[in-house]
Amino acid sequence: MINQDQFDNLLVEAENEINNGADAAVLYHKYLGRNGKFSTMIKQITTLKTDERKVVGEKAKIIKNRLNYLLQIKTSSNQPSIDLTLPADLTAHGHQHPIETSIARLYQISERLGFVAAQSPEIENEDNNFEFLQIAKDHPARDMQDTFWTVDGRVLRTHTTAFQQNLIKNNHPPFAFVQGGKIYRCEAEDATHLSEFHQFDGFAVAKNLTFADLRGVLFQLIQDFFLRPVELRFRPSFFPFVEPGAEIDMKCFSCTGRGCRSCGYKGWLELLGCGITDQEIIASAGLDPKEYHGLAFGLGVERFAMLYYGVEDIREFTRNDPRFLEQLV
Ligand SMILES: [Zn+2]
Repeated sequence: MINQDQFDNLLVEAENEINNGADAAVLYHKYLGRNGKFSTMIKQITTLKTDERKVVGEKAKIIKNRLNYLLQIKTSSNQPSIDLTLPADLTAHGHQHPIETSIARLYQISERLGFVAAQSPEIENEDNNFEFLQIAKDHPARDMQDTFWTVDGRVLRTHTTAFQQNLIKNNHPPFAFVQGGKIYRCEAEDATHLSEFHQFDGFAVAKNLTFADLRGVLFQLIQDFFLRPVELRFRPSFFPFVEPGAEIDMKCFSCTGRGCRSCGYKGWLELLGCGITDQEIIASAGLDPKEYHGLAFGLGVERFAMLYYGVEDIREFTRNDPRFLEQLV
């Protein structure tokens, strides 16, 4: 006589087969098919007395639902997740622009060196962009010909250094910030100049910062960016907001200093400007310039990217030609 235990046993047997990797279609046929084990058993219920028929029938219903559920799951997990019969997707999906990639890498490297990412607006007031940084009225950068102004007297920032005033006035030292972003100059465009390009600036103020700290930070930053050992030289140079100021050159990769076409036969490549923050800037933020010192550097992202990727014409970065961009992943 058929009973509840036989249905329970049927479920255990089916579960074992499912777990042992048997084919779902075969199992479905074996258990729930017209002449399957379940159907054979259910036919025997008619031979039971009415009250037993009701109890065993309820059990059979539960077991059938469970078997159905398990076999459905088994069937769907057997289906491949990719439909290999569909036509191939040959669409190019693109990638991050090499300038954005370079800025992201500079942020990453400088954050490892203890700098925090900051942001300042692309449209600046004259004070942040020029006066605070001691760029006098007769400085060439102030020439109306050299920059873009809005009708209400604001300026499209000519350098990312414009973030210094807000940082030093709103943060108590020690602090170290970096900013990468777009800047604007009224330049005639050629193979080495654009009117809209990108800079990456660093600015740190603390007690007892020295030129050795600046040198250490830049050496690490440059080496980590170019992913190779570099040889640097510091040349004294003038920037109104630093004293002393320097330009850094890196020994040419291609000729290792002997001179070649890519370094203009100089053996060295100009990289960036840097220096120790002018004491007047420290004092103008209410800090004692004898106690606090700042370090600052600013680099052209396109310049770094050109050297890193071996690009000879800066305008390639703005032409949006996939044949060029897809080489610089
Ligand atoms: Zn060279």
